[in-house]
This record gives sequence, C-alpha cells and structure tokens, in this order.
Amino acid sequence: MSYLDNIRKVTPYVPGEQPKVEGELIKLNTNEFPYPPSPKVVEAIESLEVETLRLYPNTTAAPLAKAIADRYGFDEDEVFVGVGSDDVLANCFLTFFSSDKPVLFPDITYSFYDVWTDIYRIPYETMPLDDDFKIKKEDYYRRNGGIVIANPNAPTGIAAPLDVIEDIVSHNPDSVVVIDEAYVDFGGESALPLVKKYKNLVVVQTFSKSRAFAGMRIGFAIANKELISCMNNVKFAINSYTMNSAAIAYGVAAVNDNEYFIETVGKVVATRERVKKTLEELGFVSLNSATNFLFVTHKDKPAKDIFEYLKTKNIYVRYFNKPRINNYLRITIGTDDQMDKMISVLKEYL
Ligand code: PMP
Repeated sequence: MSYLDNIRKVTPYVPGEQPKVEGELIKLNTNEFPYPPSPKVVEAIESLEVETLRLYPNTTAAPLAKAIADRYGFDEDEVFVGVGSDDVLANCFLTFFSSDKPVLFPDITYSFYDVWTDIYRIPYETMPLDDDFKIKKEDYYRRNGGIVIANPNAPTGIAAPLDVIEDIVSHNPDSVVVIDEAYVDFGGESALPLVKKYKNLVVVQTFSKSRAFAGMRIGFAIANKELISCMNNVKFAINSYTMNSAAIAYGVAAVNDNEYFIETVGKVVATRERVKKTLEELGFVSLNSATNFLFVTHKDKPAKDIFEYLKTKNIYVRYFNKPRINNYLRITIGTDDQMDKMISVLKEYL
C-alpha cells in the first residue's frame, strides 16, 4: 500500500500543441478562428467598470444566458452557460449520464468524450462510423444510458443531416441525447429547432470557433428548462461562480454583433472551399467539411511525414495517431495569406 493507491488516476485529454517558435508561426492545429473578435467586444473591453470585479459574478451568467436565448429564440432558463463547451459537456456527462447502461458515441469523434466517461466512471460503448465516416443511426437504437454526438463531427468535419439526428433523438425518449455543435456555424444544420419538440435533447455550442473567443472560454447548452435546472444543480454543487464578470460582459457584446459574425464566418467558409480545391489538385483527398477545418489524406505521401515536414517550416496542423485516421491531417482554416503559405510549402514538399 502507498498513499498513491488512494488517488484518482486518469488519462487526460491531450489538446493541440501551443508551440513557441522563433519567427512566424502558422498555427492551424486547434481550430481557432483566424480573425479577431467583433469590434463591439473591443468597446466592451474598453468600457469594463473595474469596480465590478470586486463583486462575485452572476451565478448563472444571466445577462449572457439572456443574450444567447434572445439570439436563438429561447427563454433564459433554457440556456446554461459554461467555461467553454468543454466545461458544458463535462457538466452534461456528470448530470445526464448516471446509470449502469452504456453511453454511446461514435468510434471516431471528439477525443474528450472517453476522458469524461473515464473520470466520472460512466460505462460507454463506441459505435463504428461507416467506411465514409458517416453515422449509422441504427447503431443508436440499442439500450443505452445516454448518447453524445458531435455534429458536425470532429476530426472528420462531416455533418450528419438533421433527419438522422432527429431519428436518433426520437428513438431514445428514455435517455438524454447531447449534440455537440462546436462547428455548426460553418455549415452544419443545427438541432436547436428540435429542442422545442424533444424533452431529451441537449444542444451544446461554443464561442471558441465562430465567435473568435477560444481564449475567453464561453460555451452554452440549450435544452428544456428541467434539464437546464439539473445542470445548474450539478454546477452549484461544485462551483457556483464559473463565469467571470468580464467574460459575461464580453460574451454579450460578441453574441449581439450578428453582422460581424456572419461576415467573418462567411470568409472562413470561402477560404475553406478554395483551399479544398487547391489541395485536391495537389493529390489530396478531402472529406466534405461543414467546419472550420479540412480532414485530408494524400494519395502518395504518408500524413505523418507531411505533418513533420510542415512543422519544420513552423506550420502546425493536427495529426492523430489513431486507428482508421492515422493517414489523415486535420488542417484548421486560417487567413487566406496563411493558407497560401501552407500551400506553397506543400507544393515544395510534394
Ligand atoms: N467539441 C468539439 C467537437 C471540439 O472540437 C472542441 C474543441 N476542442 C470542443 C467541443 C471544446 O471547445 P471549447 O471548450 O473551446 O468550447
């Protein structure tokens, strides 16, 4: 026996590298947004009353929950706000997945899901995507203690049509289905309208990607108010003050500037389609992306070699050494200039 025997041991989630390099870095490895946050956020930062920091923040981030609710046509008590969608998803796992039955999610998906099932000791089973990396809805008709699906999926970038999501939700009235829509603004079809129809559906989104707020840490869940109230109870059992006052104020400014959001997301989507075409001309095969990244494989060159080579040129993309996807690269869409530099380095290499 040792004191170490009584300690909780987990295999942590491994985020993309935050490299420190000499010279220019082209960072396309963590799906960050390439443009700055809205100018309205800059105004909010400049007008922050420092005096407010003396006080504890609002426990439910009410002004931000209200702004999100208004944006998407819900009531404030149908919105839960957290410190990035990782915080919101972790809360979902802890709140909604509390049975002996396995939670279901795809074999290839966001690699945080099995970390949360591990730390919260939730049984789970992974359902293999088909050969085209698509979800097979029938896999989710079996007995389960909850379901979580990233849509669009990561790291594939593929979006499942809404009728597939609805089919899964409607087949599982006795468990909570969580749809992780971190990338939905870049081309997916949101399940938010289904929240009005299904009491067992929770939709999770983030400000980290399409609202250029990865560093601010804001995510949210929308569901019927009973489920949101359960999430708040779990949160209040751990830490009532997760959202700081500044993040709440800046988040309101970000969500209210819809014009800037539409314009900048549109730019990323246009860059994505242009780069996809160019990469295909260079011998890459790219999955159909509904996100701010491309998932690509090359017909001759191993993905790992390309990944290593790009790194020597201070260009960071993501490589996953995992079954089925270990010959793919996930490339975040940066600015046009960054993508052009990456393409010219790839041309040299190939
Ligand atoms: N879901 C998916 C599918 C993601 O790729 C990410 C980003 N790593 C997240 C959730 C979490 O993002 P954040 O905590 O920044 O909202």
